[in-house]
Amino acid sequence: MKHKMTEAEVREQFDELLEDILRILGSCENQTQQTAVYDWGYVVISATCELMERTFAVGSAKYARFYSGHVARQLRDKYREAHSGIANMDPEYSSVAIREVPEHLSICRSCGGTGKDAKTGLRECHYCEGTGRVRVVSVIRTMIRPYSPDDGSPPLEMQEIP
Ligand SMILES: [Zn+2]
Repeated sequence: MKHKMTEAEVREQFDELLEDILRILGSCENQTQQTAVYDWGYVVISATCELMERTFAVGSAKYARFYSGHVARQLRDKYREAHSGIANMDPEYSSVAIREVPEHLSICRSCGGTGKDAKTGLRECHYCEGTGRVRVVSVIRTMIRPYSPDDGSPPLEMQEIP
């Protein structure tokens, strides 16, 4: 039996979750903490949405997916805001950019697309539930600091910024 939730109830659950995440984000003292909270918040929102999609009736599940995207964007905006607010406090990096690669399908890396458990080859792969494919959202963080050839650090290859 799947739960039927009103749109207001779905919104309330996500709004409360976002409020908690933003409160923790607001208490961060540096970029490293902010980024950790942002990444964690993003995962929590996605996991909550996935749980709703599994347990809610179709209409409610659809709305949960839509609204979770809205909440994730709010979190991203607040994170960017907070980030630029204390950007000068971290002297090492002069510039930070966040880019989100929207949800897309990808071959499951755990089973290589076979849908079978990588170890036994018999059971269903836990990550893709046997489909061989997974839904992926990536958040790419790019941080820039000056390069100095004489600072004794290991050599790096030249590469385009993704
Ligand atoms: Zn798999």
